[in-house]
Amino acid sequence: MQYIIDHIPENTRCNRRPGTKMVPSSITIHNTGNPTSKARDERGWLTNPTNTRTASWHIVIDEEEAVEAIPLNEIAWHAGNYEGNRTSIGIEVCESGDQEKVWQNVVYLTAKLLFERGWGVEQVKTHQNWSGKYCPRLILPKWDKFLQDVEAELKNLSSDNQSNHASSNSQASSWAISAQKWVMENRISDGTNPKTPATREQIWVMLYNLMGGKEND
Ligand SMILES: [Zn+2]
Repeated sequence: MQYIIDHIPENTRCNRRPGTKMVPSSITIHNTGNPTSKARDERGWLTNPTNTRTASWHIVIDEEEAVEAIPLNEIAWHAGNYEGNRTSIGIEVCESGDQEKVWQNVVYLTAKLLFERGWGVEQVKTHQNWSGKYCPRLILPKWDKFLQDVEAELKNLSSDNQSNHASSNSQASSWAISAQKWVMENRISDGTNPKTPATREQIWVMLYNLMGGKEND
């Protein structure tokens, strides 16, 4: 599954991306409510001039890809209540395509987001938990199964990480492969020794490279 970052501009109509910083403490699962739209359609709708609603979300996911529309450290309008909007990462799950694949993708993405933050499945919420709306409408009837699958995937990610530690330091964990590719492509790091700690001076150089230091010399 591809993960694409395609943020909407901060001046998007109807205050859909207010730019207000947040420190998230949970993930909220939604369904789009649209049986035919794909992730890119949903992303397109956020910047469609005919859209007049103050509603937004962080990530939308379909059978093929996930698209991040709002940075995960900014608020979005998806939960229908004050606390949810200001503390939770909103994931919209598409209702189109092969729902088995969509399920696997959202299970994996949710587990990965939890893993990266050191969170557990108790940090996964439904839209219904916040505001009472019957959402995610396709997943709610199987919510316990969803959490079980996320928990199993979370265990996979953890053991994957540990076994890599024990057996080999030369390969990045599955959850870090896209990031490794990104640092290499952007010449921030050469991507080697993914499991060894970095010294302060190595971090300095990575930051320097990130800010374009290399292009200046
Ligand atoms: Zn919802």
